[in-house]
Amino acid sequence: MSRKVVKFGGTSLSCAAQIKKAGGIIKEEEGRQYVVVSAPGKRWDGDIKVTDLLYRAYDLAQAGRPYEEMMQQICGRYREIVTGLGLSEAFWKEWIQEFEAVCVHLEKENAQEYIVSRGEYLNGKIVAQYLGFAFVDAAKIICFDKNGEFLHEKTRERLKAVLKDRKFVVVPGFYGADDAGAVHTFSRGGSDITGSLVAEAVQADIYENWTDVSGFLVADPRVVENPKLIRILTYRELRELAYMGAVVMHEEAVLPLHKTGIPIQIKNTNAPGGEGTMIVGNTCQESEFTITGIAGKKGFAAVTIEKDRMNSEIGFGRKVLEVFQNHGISFEHVPSGIDTMTVFVKQEALEEKKEKILFEIYEATGADSVEVETGLSLLAVVGRGMKEHRGTAGKIFTALAHADVNVKMIDQGSSELNIIIGVADEEFERAVRAVYGMFVAV
Ligand code: ADP
Ligand code: ASP
Ligand code: MG
Repeated sequence: MSRKVVKFGGTSLSCAAQIKKAGGIIKEEEGRQYVVVSAPGKRWDGDIKVTDLLYRAYDLAQAGRPYEEMMQQICGRYREIVTGLGLSEAFWKEWIQEFEAVCVHLEKENAQEYIVSRGEYLNGKIVAQYLGFAFVDAAKIICFDKNGEFLHEKTRERLKAVLKDRKFVVVPGFYGADDAGAVHTFSRGGSDITGSLVAEAVQADIYENWTDVSGFLVADPRVVENPKLIRILTYRELRELAYMGAVVMHEEAVLPLHKTGIPIQIKNTNAPGGEGTMIVGNTCQESEFTITGIAGKKGFAAVTIEKDRMNSEIGFGRKVLEVFQNHGISFEHVPSGIDTMTVFVKQEALEEKKEKILFEIYEATGADSVEVETGLSLLAVVGRGMKEHRGTAGKIFTALAHADVNVKMIDQGSSELNIIIGVADEEFERAVRAVYGMFVAV
């Protein structure tokens, strides 16, 4: 019997009917012994995730505005779940006491991470009760330092110690705690990371990640209609695609599994019979198309610095990047020419400090000009097979030219695993569809 860690995302646990489906999947196999859960997600298009409701309630409370209605809405969602699952009144009484205890923290400062983590915590309690599994609070096993930095080594040891000789447990995803018990969360979508950590600790044969799509798809299904399934994906490809916006898996979810080689399988809770996607450390299996996948994100800005004879000035790049570093801004790409250098950063991060940053770049480098272009998207075309195929970049440009997309930047990663393309936000969807059409929908 293979030992499995199974993580169910928000839409897979959004209401009683979905939790019943997840329960059916779990009970179908003895090996599904470790269950990681998200907070209830969207039940339909336009619905709001419980995590988002919690963020809103906390913001309202901090602004001194009424938040009670928001909390009632959240409580109502859980009540529906508890009733729909037929859990006892006694359980509900206990549960509601926990919920009320949460509300007490809403007006406290620095309690945001605690508040938003309660979506997973409270759902975990319900799912554990429904399955008849033990509940293990993530605050006791996922370790952070007091600044919110995740501590992998410590977590690994703690998880091993706590889960040793235990099975049939439910662990809420997304959060952990520091030594003083203060709760910290991963970034959004972080329950995927919790699942990997549990899989690593219990040396699972496989980590199943159950969601609302039939696997990792070649492109975002919200951009390309009915995209093809990626059957096998490597950890590195996943990181590239996830980082660039394929939210179906968190980009950091593969890190705990790097050394162990435990495969991740993405499956659809609403169509459990499908083959899904396998994510593995290495594969000699060629991908079906030259490219494995396309992903992308909007909202970048490009800062272009021009200076005559820049190329012969030693340390020019360092001076520019230091300015961004001093402002705590990380850069995405730095394409350069003989007399120009462009730094791509997140627009949001740049906006508030723009004037200061531009001034400091002038000061530090004596640049002839420093210009900013906003409203840019980055698109990543990723594939382990690209380096074996000649003319991949050429094909991408042909596709983009035919779709009348203006390419603002191109950057090929040195591993030849990806090609990054910068386009205007308005042309982003068109660009993704064009590349998809060129390589896949032929
Ligand atoms: P969960 O709540 O199960 O963690 P998420 O909403 O985080 O699910 O991720 C699943 C969603 O990811 C899908 O509904 C889909 O809209 C989106 N998505 C974006 N890019 C891709 C892709 N390349 N393949 C599959 N899904 C994708
Ligand atoms: N509930 C959290 C979020 O919405 C974590 C997760 O679902 O993975 O981001
Ligand atoms: Mg997710």
